[in-house]
Amino acid sequence: MVVGDISTGTDVLVIGAGPGGYVAAIRAAQHGLDTTLVERDAYGGTCLNYGCIPSKALITGSDLAHEAGNAEHMGIHADPAVDMAAMSGWKDGVVDQLTGGVEKLCKANGVNLVEGEATFADETTVRVAHGGDGQGSESIEFEHAIVATGSQPIEIPGFEFTDEEVWSSRDALAADEIPDRLVVVGAGYIGMELATVFAKLGTDVTVVEMLDDALPMYESDVARVVRKRAKDLGIEFQFGEGASEWQESPDGGIQVVTETEDGVESTYAADKVLVAVGRRPVTEGVGLEAAGIETDENGFIPVDDRMRTNKDHVFAIGDVAGEPMLAHVASHEGIVASEVIAGEPAAMDAQAVPAAVFTDPEVATVGMTEAEAEADGFDPVVGEMPFRASGRALTADHTDGFVRIVADEETGLVLGGQIVGPEASELIAEVSLAVEMGATLEDVASTIHTHPTLAEAVMEAAENAQGQAIHTLNR
Ligand SMILES: Cc1cc2nc3c(=O)[nH]c(=O)nc-3n(C[C@H](O)[C@H](O)[C@H](O)COP(=O)(O)OP(=O)(O)OC[C@H]3O[C@@H](n4cnc5c(N)ncnc54)[C@H](O)[C@@H]3O)c2cc1C
Repeated sequence: MVVGDISTGTDVLVIGAGPGGYVAAIRAAQHGLDTTLVERDAYGGTCLNYGCIPSKALITGSDLAHEAGNAEHMGIHADPAVDMAAMSGWKDGVVDQLTGGVEKLCKANGVNLVEGEATFADETTVRVAHGGDGQGSESIEFEHAIVATGSQPIEIPGFEFTDEEVWSSRDALAADEIPDRLVVVGAGYIGMELATVFAKLGTDVTVVEMLDDALPMYESDVARVVRKRAKDLGIEFQFGEGASEWQESPDGGIQVVTETEDGVESTYAADKVLVAVGRRPVTEGVGLEAAGIETDENGFIPVDDRMRTNKDHVFAIGDVAGEPMLAHVASHEGIVASEVIAGEPAAMDAQAVPAAVFTDPEVATVGMTEAEAEADGFDPVVGEMPFRASGRALTADHTDGFVRIVADEETGLVLGGQIVGPEASELIAEVSLAVEMGATLEDVASTIHTHPTLAEAVMEAAENAQGQAIHTLNR
């Protein structure tokens, strides 16, 4: 302890108030544990402030503008003008409402909120620096700690984030003006979501990707649907090229230089370059060494299925504990950690972890693909329903994509699903429930679905896997 410190104690100390940390803190407090949550920046973490929520708000705004301006075939004649500063203001209002809600919920559940930067001093103490001149610090002794410090964007050589020319996803989400030309480096989910937003707002977008497809983590026929639509929106793809540097150009903009594996260089003119090549865990400055907490070669904190680190009384959850780096995974892990601390028989079961990409159209997956099921020793049977055969998709004027359901041939157990198409992020919930519950194809196929809905496509995919589809040809 240094002179001027105040010292307090707590049962559970949570570091970081993202969707992992604040959920963990509320659940721990609900179990009657004295709980302290430390945050150095903003309640809600990356997700609410710089990630999921602002990106989805801008996706809604850009969709509206684009759809209204492209509905001539429905007899709608409009030429919407976007005031980006106003759209950004609306998005910030949504963020403020949610972050304020997190603070209120924490307080209402009896969580002690501490603002400042937490660093482990030893195995049972953290020091919290409150920042600013003369604002002091405090030491907090804990019985259990939960590390939920999240992740931050990866910078690549030659592209240090500048706020001005070189954007991180956070800068892109804070834009008050629509750039005329944007180069996006990285065709993963963050790059593709933001490329779609700006393309719909009228920006000329070029996506540079080292690999040979967009959304390389998904099956190629799923990614193909998104790539094709992105091209229709005017997005240019440069696959097999890595960004090597940027330069100012005489027209006041910049030039992004790329290089293929064989050393062939190209240059793309832009006003901004968005670097979206992945995220790395926030473990620097947390004092993990002082607490004896180990990290792996990529900086993540390894945990067991109860979210315990190598130190029994310290847990790690969310992005800092490794893939999949998703908000709902962080929250679920937070609940597991707090339940374990409270003595409940909780454990992490990652069988049915859904993931969604909010591109146009959306992509959402859960459980196993056909190839993964095969590799796992199942004899998979697959059913599909194209959205072009769905009445609701036609009336919604969004017919790209399909629902695919993967099951075990012998037992009919649903093992997973891949959806690319309208509202895929919502529809995947039905497949997730099926996987989690151990439902069979018959369960899904014989559940009465409302008509006309997109969800009927999930039912029809299950019927298709059984060779009994009505609205599409059986395979
Ligand atoms: C552009 C973008 C879009 C995304 N979209 C989605 C999406 O649609 N769906 C989805 O599931 N996920 C999405 N994500 C990912 C999601 O944001 C993360 O998976 C999620 O925020 C992880 O939660 P977390 O609690 O682990 O960490 P974070 O949300 O990163 O929170 C960590 C918190 O810890 C604080 N902190 C760090 N160190 C300290 C310290 N020493 N002391 C005190 N506080 C500290 C940080 O300030 C931060 O507030 C997106 C991410 C980005 C960047």
